[in-house]
Amino acid sequence: MLPRLGAADEHQEIREAVRSLCRAFPDEYFRQIDEQRAYPQAFVDALMAGGWLSAMIPEEYGGTGLGLTAASVIMEEINRSGANSAAVHGQMYNMGTLLRNGSRAQKERYLPEIAAGRLRIQSMAVTEPTSGTDTTQIRTSAVKKDGRYVVNGQKVWTSRVRHSDLMVLLARTTPLRELARKSDGMSVFIVDLRQAVGKGLTVRPIANMVNHETNELFFDNLEIPQENLIGEEGKGFRYLLDGLNAERTLIAAECIGDGYWFIERARRYASERIVFDRPIGQNQGVQFPIAEAYIELEAANLMRFQACALFDAEQPCGAQANMAKYLAAKASWEAANVCLQTHGGFGFATEYDIERKFRETRLYQVAPISTNLIFSYVAEHLLGLPRSF
Ligand SMILES: Cc1cc2nc3c(=O)[nH]c(=O)nc-3n(C[C@H](O)[C@H](O)[C@H](O)COP(=O)(O)OP(=O)(O)OC[C@H]3O[C@@H](n4cnc5c(N)ncnc54)[C@H](O)[C@@H]3O)c2cc1C
Repeated sequence: MLPRLGAADEHQEIREAVRSLCRAFPDEYFRQIDEQRAYPQAFVDALMAGGWLSAMIPEEYGGTGLGLTAASVIMEEINRSGANSAAVHGQMYNMGTLLRNGSRAQKERYLPEIAAGRLRIQSMAVTEPTSGTDTTQIRTSAVKKDGRYVVNGQKVWTSRVRHSDLMVLLARTTPLRELARKSDGMSVFIVDLRQAVGKGLTVRPIANMVNHETNELFFDNLEIPQENLIGEEGKGFRYLLDGLNAERTLIAAECIGDGYWFIERARRYASERIVFDRPIGQNQGVQFPIAEAYIELEAANLMRFQACALFDAEQPCGAQANMAKYLAAKASWEAANVCLQTHGGFGFATEYDIERKFRETRLYQVAPISTNLIFSYVAEHLLGLPRSF
């Protein structure tokens, strides 16, 4: 067992409880799910039933109201157990826009059901094929007509749609050419997937490197009731930005969990594998990279807890959240590399699970925000360098 440093011990009870739940879903379970390109339904059901994904929902709406630090510990422990939070993290944070910007009636209608796990809000549709990272260029439109919004357009990489009841949708309600500011004119909606799929919304799965349930979406005159607009029309982009700090910090925690998993596996294998009549970990050429990856992971973890603490204290935390995501994604990827290298050829064998986790943790260099865009944020917003776009 790796030493546990710093603030993490405050959450020992949560850690123990999540670990205990995860023990019922060992490596073989996730290996099989990965091989079959299936969805870990039983695992997700267990997390929902235990209320673990309602940590960000206040108690008045039926959640546990534990806050971001605790939520991040839950995500970390899931990944640290060998599982992948990507199957569930939408349920933890996609309701944020509703909570911050929704009406009282919307919150009362949805949040208790989400907290109880009876309503899944796993999906958020922002990215489009032609806009990519530049969200201000999205083209999917929602036009108000006879008390409804009619949606047309296309999204890409919308995850977990096939395992969700609700989806948060960002769509253009004012054409770009009519706007003074390109970040205006977009609005956020709740789409009830149970009514939408097949009736204006077509879902096409994207085969991908990880076992990630992600899709292309095609909107063809999909009708959404007007009451499903969240907050004010035209302010959707800003509403989404407000939620990014929580999302980035939670993703950082998932990476930290992955990193500990890789380092623990590397440490164990390096101690047990005998070549040249001694454990491979006795060679400094093997042990130093593991130590280095561990140091970098611990450093990233400090930034993650700093971002969490500021967020929970309702202080600005954009810089820390972005830097935590960058550092943790980098540290987990380096730990993955070291772990694979330590295992030699066996790192490539499916039964060791290293190659699966290696693929899974690689995603976080790209999504939900790519490394370059974090550099851009830090360069322009923290260091005051000229804007590049
Ligand atoms: C498995 C998976 C799941 C996803 N799930 C979701 C989801 O549920 N909902 C959703 O809305 N989206 C989702 N995404 C989309 C994800 O957020 C985007 O892939 C990501 O934001 C990058 O956008 P892009 O792929 O269009 O890359 P592009 O914008 O085309 O960028 C390509 C590369 O160029 C770089 N680049 C672009 N512009 C600049 C610049 N100005 N300066 C420097 N570098 C630049 C980027 O950093 C990137 O490395 C998912 C993606 C994946 C792969």
